[in-house]
Amino acid sequence: QSRPEQAQLLVLGGGPGGYTAAFRAADLGLDVVLVEREATLGGVCLNVGCIPSKALLHTAHIMDQARGLTEQGIDFGEPDLSLDKLRGWKESVVSKLTQGLAGLARQRGVRVLRGEGRFTGPDSLVVHSEDGARELRFSKAIIAAGSRPARLPFLSEDPRILDSTAALELEDIPERLLVLGGGIIGLEMAAVYAALGSRITVVEQAEGLLPGCDRDLVEPLRKDLEQRYEALYTGTRVAGVQPQACGLKVSFECDRSPEVFDKLLCAVGRLPNGGLLDADKAGVRVDDQGFIAVDEFQRTNVPHVFAIGDLAGGPMLAHKAAHEGKVAAEVAAGLPVANEARVIPSVAYTDPEVAWVGLTETQAQRENRRYEKACFPWMASGRAQTLGAGAGLTKILVEPDSGVLIGAGIVGPSAGDLIAEATLAIELGLEPAEIGLTVHPHPTLAETLAFAAEAYEGTLTELY
Ligand code: FAD
Repeated sequence: QSRPEQAQLLVLGGGPGGYTAAFRAADLGLDVVLVEREATLGGVCLNVGCIPSKALLHTAHIMDQARGLTEQGIDFGEPDLSLDKLRGWKESVVSKLTQGLAGLARQRGVRVLRGEGRFTGPDSLVVHSEDGARELRFSKAIIAAGSRPARLPFLSEDPRILDSTAALELEDIPERLLVLGGGIIGLEMAAVYAALGSRITVVEQAEGLLPGCDRDLVEPLRKDLEQRYEALYTGTRVAGVQPQACGLKVSFECDRSPEVFDKLLCAVGRLPNGGLLDADKAGVRVDDQGFIAVDEFQRTNVPHVFAIGDLAGGPMLAHKAAHEGKVAAEVAAGLPVANEARVIPSVAYTDPEVAWVGLTETQAQRENRRYEKACFPWMASGRAQTLGAGAGLTKILVEPDSGVLIGAGIVGPSAGDLIAEATLAIELGLEPAEIGLTVHPHPTLAETLAFAAEAYEGTLTELY
């Protein structure tokens, strides 16, 4: 029986929440052990999420752009696709980053233990791996075990039924692909497969795509996809899927006739992993769904145990996990900090991109909150016109009493990058006039936020 490993701080899970927490805590002088069951650090985001999907979306975007040049008199013809090379390129992007993380952990002296961790008490955990079980004792712990894809109960185990992880493997390009779920992950994967040649049908039970986002921001994307995809079935639920030799026979909960698809991607959300860790043995409360409730210091009901990222509630996004990871590490190291982020931006890296932050009109109306708004349609932006992006839109929402920015939404190329300025403005409690008076470079898409602010102030004069 070997002696238990000791650590001042245990971090359970090596995703963007966990590795950020581990690195920050080590930088603050704590002795840190990071437990991760997969062979590489980086979690869902680096290995099977944000990074591989954005690598493939980059390729898809270039292919779509090349196809869209006929109006400018250019025709590249149909692309010659090597799926093996594309897959290899995506994997090389991922492995550069995961190797980088391993190096950063070494440099900081963070001890990485490979294996599946389960709590055995309020200050102990067992790590199970091929080499056996190893006991670890800790003074403080940060739970960062993330989430997994949700699967609808009527879906059988069939290799033609994919989750996002399997879809990112790019095993082949199905002729007809049904994307079940019109949220961010479903639409991003649909964009990849559409560019590579699949005919796409998207089915979404809510009345529109990207539920939660304002309809005026989704509209340019919806119009575009309606032309590019075989079908968009919104307000529609799938009733059953029967695997057959010729394909997957899909029936719907309405009078729509059943249809046969070559493959189906199930992208109906993700489930937190909180219930798979024996957290109760540490006294940590986990709710029925697998979420762990935390306070503004990221502390669970057990004061020396913190929880961050996808399993701690709120939007399941990497930048939110990383921010919480920093807060938890700093609190664990004794710094007087709390999680004071006012807003977390959301981005769908579709074509066009859709990004929003803070209050949405949908939420304001649901919660009966007063707001004022101003929009700047990209039709009037010189830069947008040069990019063929005149359908874009930038919108701001303002709190009527204080006059400060409380929300923003953007649809168009690079919306995800552009939303960062609005996020900063909300964090700093800026008024639209302060954005409008900031001289923005011309001609850029960034100007559209300043133009929306000027439209709010009534000082907008066109600058093409
Ligand atoms: P995770 O990344 O899930 O990491 C948790 C880690 O814990 C995993 O490595 C897991 O192996 C490990 N683990 C779990 N249980 C144990 C255990 N018992 N013992 C040891 N290790 C364990 N977010 C964005 O912000 N932008 C995007 O563009 C984006 N794109 C996405 C695309 C896809 C296809 C998917 C699926 C997700 C995407 N996300 C995106 C979401 C993002 O990946 C997650 O929000 C983020 O990874 C959550 O980080 P986390 O640290 O909470 O957990």
